Formats: sequence, C-alpha cells, structure tokens
Amino acid sequence: MKDGLKFWNGYRADGLDFVRSHVEELTRLALRPETRLPFAVEGMRALGPITLPFYGESLSLLAPRELEVLAGEAVTLLRRTERGSRGAAAAVIAHASLQVPSVLTPHLPELFQLLPNEAAYYGEWPWRGADSSEVARLGTVARKAEEPPWHLCGFLVGARSDEALALAQRLFAPIDSPRLDRVLRQVGRELVDHRIRPLTSEAVFHVVFDDDYLRVDYSDPEHVWTHPTLLAEGLPAERSPFGGVLAERCGRCATPLARLLELSAILPELGVHSRSQVQFATCLWCQGSAEAPLYFSHDESGTPASLPEVRVSQPSTRHLRLNETVARVQRTRQRWRFQDWGLSTHRQNLHRVGGEPTFIGQYVYPRCPRCSGRMPFLLQFDSWLPLEGDAFLHWGGEGLAYLFWCDPCATSATFVESP
Ligand SMILES: [Zn+2]
Ligand SMILES: [Zn+2]
Repeated sequence: MKDGLKFWNGYRADGLDFVRSHVEELTRLALRPETRLPFAVEGMRALGPITLPFYGESLSLLAPRELEVLAGEAVTLLRRTERGSRGAAAAVIAHASLQVPSVLTPHLPELFQLLPNEAAYYGEWPWRGADSSEVARLGTVARKAEEPPWHLCGFLVGARSDEALALAQRLFAPIDSPRLDRVLRQVGRELVDHRIRPLTSEAVFHVVFDDDYLRVDYSDPEHVWTHPTLLAEGLPAERSPFGGVLAERCGRCATPLARLLELSAILPELGVHSRSQVQFATCLWCQGSAEAPLYFSHDESGTPASLPEVRVSQPSTRHLRLNETVARVQRTRQRWRFQDWGLSTHRQNLHRVGGEPTFIGQYVYPRCPRCSGRMPFLLQFDSWLPLEGDAFLHWGGEGLAYLFWCDPCATSATFVESP
C-alpha cells in the first residue's frame, strides 16, 4: 500500500517520466493481480482532483468484482467533493460506466445528486447501468416537474433498455421530437415514424491484426502492456483479407479503392441480409466527411462501385496502399462492448465491427443516397494502419474511419472524423 501511495505521489514530482514508470507499473500489476486493487484505491486517493488518463487506463486491469469495490470507494470520496467534480474518483465512475455499468447500479440514486463529470460528454453514462427501479425512479422525478427536464432524457435514453426508451419517448416526444431524435443518436438509435429504431447491431466484434502487421515496437515502453482488446482470443468468428486495392475506382479521384474487410459469416448478425457476402472499401485519398460521405453500391456479389459512377477517364497513378494481411474478426467480450475514443487514450483496439461506433465528437449517421433513410453503423477503423513503405495511415490526423450500410439498397457510406 505504501509503495502505491509513493508511486502515485511521484506523479507530481516526475511529470512525463512518470508516464513511462506507470506503464512498467501496469506490467508489474498484470503479473501480480493481488496488488491491483490496493494500487487503484491508493491512486484514486493520491491523485485527488487530478485527471490522469493513464490512471483511468489502469482500471482495465481490474476484475469486475474489484471495480465494484473501487466504485464504492469512489462514491465515498465524491461525497466529500463538490457536485459535478472531476478527478480520479470521477474517472473511476466514467470507466466503470463503460466497462461494467452494473457495478454502478446501486449507486445511481446517489450519483444523481453528486453528478461526477457533469460537464463532460460522459456525465450521463452511469445510467447505462439503470435497472427497472432506477428507471421508475427517474420517471417519478420527471413527472413531478412541470415539464420534465432534458437531462433526465439523457439518463433514460442512456439506459438503453426497452422500458427506459419507451418512457423517454412518452415523456419527451410530445415536447420536442427532433431533440429526442438527437439524444437517441448518442446511443445508436433514431426516432422515425413515432418509433425508436436501432442504428447499431447487438453483435460486436473486434478486428485483431498481428503485432508484426501493425509494426508494434516492443522496445518502446508504451507497448510493454497490451490492452485486452488487442489480443487474439479463441477461434475468430471470421477471417478476412484486408488491405491492398480493388479493381474498382473512386468516383471522385479515380484512384483504385482501398480494400477494407470482406465479410460473410457474421453479416446476418450485423443486420446485413440483402447480400451473403460484402466487400467493404473506401478511398484513402478522398476519405469523405460526415457532411459529404463517400457512397458505394454493392452488386449481387457484394463488390462495391462508387456512387456516383466514375467519370474520370484518366487512370490515377497515385500510390497509397494499406499493407495486405488476413485479419481476425473476433467476438468482443461483454466488458469491451462499449468503448470511447477519448477515454481509450490510444491504448485500446478501436478497429470494431458492429455495436455502437466510438464517435469522436458528433453522432452522425449519414442518409442513404437512394432511399434517404439513416444508414445504420457497420464498422470502423482507427488510425495507425500500416501503408506500403514505412508510413502509417492517419484518418484525418489521428481520427477514425466509419462505415455505414443501408440493407434494402445494398449501399455503404464511409467518412472520416478528425480529433
Ligand atoms: Zn477518391
Ligand atoms: Zn437506402
């Protein structure tokens, strides 16, 4: 315990060196599980109001039962701080609400008063763990007000259960249904024709690449400890060719399209029923934006063609290619179904298929160019994918590329979001 306190107090003294020693400490902890919880509790107390991303990341090592104990300690600490506070205890609440929201369920009535992270985009996330009685309690609070306050809408929608969503619709649709629709998109849903429709799948997978493919440098202390989402586990649900280029060209710049995944076995779980296999692609040059995505129609064999069709007759000689490999698409453990770009601090695997996208700042689901309905999310890729030569691909800086799919139209859309 004493070592832990000394270590965390070292943060103030050592600055950046501390980060390196922290990674070494994480490795030590991974080897000695019995030290994890005391280390995390001491860290929370020592850091106090300081927000340290690496502290949050170390919570990934805790077993759910340990996270439950730590969350209880965090609530105790938060009672002594100002409402809406940030810092280490609030970070515990934020990470727990992503990883194991059920550990927060018994604390929700109290967190409703304390509101840690109130000003942050993840302030409402503890309500992912809301059970029936908490949903009923929120309903009672809402009905007491002359007009139900909108932060309650965020809590109810954030719970994601059918009963919570139905209650949110009953309370808030009559007041402002476009606003309810915007709140719903934060949890991968939309309000269309007076019904709440999912824009994401229940099934979630991670795309896992070989370390050699990603050119992980093991001499860099940053890579001593590997996040669980980066590890190959068990039999993959599917193996897919990845990288290189297709014969088809981009409709905007005529460069050959970059090959992303080619999926078949898991497509029904992702809500893809109109094609039995699909080749997903994008243009590394054009990349697309939320305002102007790149669109592709997919023929009966799932092969993409740019929408609108290629008009440039001059073949492009530009060269930008993702290295070719075979990627594992493996089912995601319950704990990592929800991830967040900001809280992952570049240490987690954000190459994901299905589930909710880890948007950086905006919750945009593009409109299908054929039927104009919102297109459900299908998959995303993080930056730092290796290009031919020594370079790495950065989507709009160090952003992410997202892909969406309209099943009736067999049409995909891709765009990039920058930090
Ligand atoms: Zn292009
Ligand atoms: Zn469509």
